Amino acid sequence: MRPFQYTRARDVAGAVSAAAAPEARFLAGGTNLVDLMKNGVERPARLIDITRLPLGTIEERGDGGVRIGATVRNTDAANHPLVRGRYPVLSEALLSGASPQLRNMATMGGNLLQRTRCPYFYDATFAECNKRAPGSGCAARHGVARMHAILGASEACIATHPSDMAVALAALDAAVRVTGPAGDRTLALADFYRLPGDSPERDTDLLPGELITAIDVPALDFARRSRYLKIRDRASYAFALVSVAAVLDLDGGGVIRAARVALGGVAHAPWRLPEAERRLIGQRAGEAAYRTLADALVRDARPLPDNAFKVELARRSIVRALTAAAAMRV
Ligand code: SF4
Repeated sequence: MRPFQYTRARDVAGAVSAAAAPEARFLAGGTNLVDLMKNGVERPARLIDITRLPLGTIEERGDGGVRIGATVRNTDAANHPLVRGRYPVLSEALLSGASPQLRNMATMGGNLLQRTRCPYFYDATFAECNKRAPGSGCAARHGVARMHAILGASEACIATHPSDMAVALAALDAAVRVTGPAGDRTLALADFYRLPGDSPERDTDLLPGELITAIDVPALDFARRSRYLKIRDRASYAFALVSVAAVLDLDGGGVIRAARVALGGVAHAPWRLPEAERRLIGQRAGEAAYRTLADALVRDARPLPDNAFKVELARRSIVRALTAAAAMRV
């Protein structure tokens, strides 16, 4: 590991100011960053510890939404009454990630900024990886691509985003609050992540030196009817082959008033199907309706031979997740 300088930030302004130094990174739980440093993938010259900043609370906002501080631990968010009661999909997504030990360390902001688990990215002995070394090529394109993207990929990169939490937040239309050298701003989660395009080295639209301060989850009464389904190779401590966050609003007669579906494990960012979601409105909840949404994904998918199975897996997972949400007693 490359030697680095360690600084503990005393306040948010000090953290942002320290991040102006060359090759600086913020350090919170460190559950991903430190691994990447050990593997030589990340080589920061300076780490700015933000764990003592006052960003560790979960609170209800005046408009009925919930603000979750960036340094709240994943375990604490998953078990908080405001999250468990109002956004079951978010609690379930958090609890499906990593292991209890990692969830006790990992923070909400850090979870958003996880890097892909593409093995060719993680293993610096592979020379080809446009995400790690721009312009070097993509080893996954002629390697094993079983875990890789079926939607929104580019010639340069076919990696998927690993966060379960981000998939749930996408379905909930959450927003990310950041502060940086140019001041504060809020990004809708839909605008936070980037597709790989020609610059897969950039995962998000964060600007240099910007610090995530909180996640805002909007007031959404019907999100009490929401589930997270994760399909993976092992029952725990494995990344999603496919995951689905499903949020359903039903009237008393079982007719769909609104549906929100986000997929994980299939693209460089959580994947929504907004047009297909709109077409569900007014339909009776049930498999026939859910299949229309699932079929929209099939039309858009561009799988590789190794991961073609994900198309049917995603299709079935969408139907199963929506069925589970509809069955909830709320
Ligand atoms: Fe690198 Fe992306 Fe290719 Fe993986 S898929 S080797 S992360 S460029």
